[in-house]
Amino acid sequence: MKIPITWLLLFSAPNCFAQSNPVNYPVSKTKATQIVAAVLKTSPVIDGHNDLFIKYMDCKSCPRDLKDYRIDSMNKGHTDIPKLRKGGAGAVLMNVFGNDSSLLSYHKAWDLLYRMEQAYQRDIKIAGSAAEMRTAMKEGRIAFLPILEGAVRLKDDPALLRTYYKLGLRSVTFAYKTNGLADGSDDSAKHNGISAIGRDMIKEMNRLGVLIDMSHISAKAMNDILDVTQSPVIFSHSNVKALCNVNRNVPDDVLIRLKQNRGIIMLTFVPYFVKNEHTLWLDAGDTVYYKAKAEYPGQKEKVDSIMEKWEGENEEPVVTVADMANHFDYVKKLIGVDYIGMAGDFDGIQFTIRGLENAGTYPNLLTELARRGWTVAELKKITSENFLRVFEDVEKKAALLREN
Ligand SMILES: [Zn+2]
Repeated sequence: MKIPITWLLLFSAPNCFAQSNPVNYPVSKTKATQIVAAVLKTSPVIDGHNDLFIKYMDCKSCPRDLKDYRIDSMNKGHTDIPKLRKGGAGAVLMNVFGNDSSLLSYHKAWDLLYRMEQAYQRDIKIAGSAAEMRTAMKEGRIAFLPILEGAVRLKDDPALLRTYYKLGLRSVTFAYKTNGLADGSDDSAKHNGISAIGRDMIKEMNRLGVLIDMSHISAKAMNDILDVTQSPVIFSHSNVKALCNVNRNVPDDVLIRLKQNRGIIMLTFVPYFVKNEHTLWLDAGDTVYYKAKAEYPGQKEKVDSIMEKWEGENEEPVVTVADMANHFDYVKKLIGVDYIGMAGDFDGIQFTIRGLENAGTYPNLLTELARRGWTVAELKKITSENFLRVFEDVEKKAALLREN
């Protein structure tokens, strides 16, 4: 995700609140660490959403090339090979995007992806199927599954979906903001859910075996897609609305339908979507920022000083691993463990959860869940097995649809 605010980049006041949700742990830390090691040995983490491409396409000195931002050694971002290795990652749903909306920049992004695989071939493998993901992970490589966040690039045309499928595209977020297919979660409704073209696109995605990603769309659009799709769907990076009341999160009734659909929600490490206190804080800062900008147009220094003062008086609420784990417990209790995965949203976020700061930290969450009593079998489901099952089901359905 990208938060449409720039003041966040200006200041980052460290703070030191105590852990907010004390939990009575039935399992010791030592035992939990052993459980997590057993899980990651056979079922590495599949991360539902990664924005590494921001570092090449959407930063101050961007666009830039592979050599200008290396991932084979520790870099300053959230994602590199050493961190992914440390975090026990086996695969990443990699958001491939260009530095503007042109076809040329999008094609350059695909070119970058393939050159990235070539440059780091001992560590990275682009995967086009669940079987290829399994093979890459068995060989000790990290599978990159190419995805598109925001179907606007498809220009409402299934021909482009088919073309990008041939390039390797395997998952599409139906709408990042309201587009020709569906309403976004925070825009005013244009289609009251999904459009007629959206319905056609779902059919074509089902037929090809492209995952339908329902993160970022309105609740009505989620329900509309669940009415139409013949295959399981995914939320590549979303949380529970009952625990954190933002439109980007998923309401309980949709979670119950997700179980019927046999899809997956990959719960995401975004503080703004984890805890209401953080959401309110960020929204309040946003209001102050835009008011200051309107009052002092073109006076960046004045606006910066107002924001600095505000941040000094309004410390960022800490969001902890325990807060994140609460979303996992909630979904497990509501619909069971078979429909849950994990998503860092790394390099796409300005703020991080304490303890889940980068792609090297997945074990911290797994350890928290193990301490709460999650078993090896349950944790294996949320690291790899649930996602692979969904992807395989989507592929099987596609094969059937193509036969008829
Ligand atoms: Zn996103």
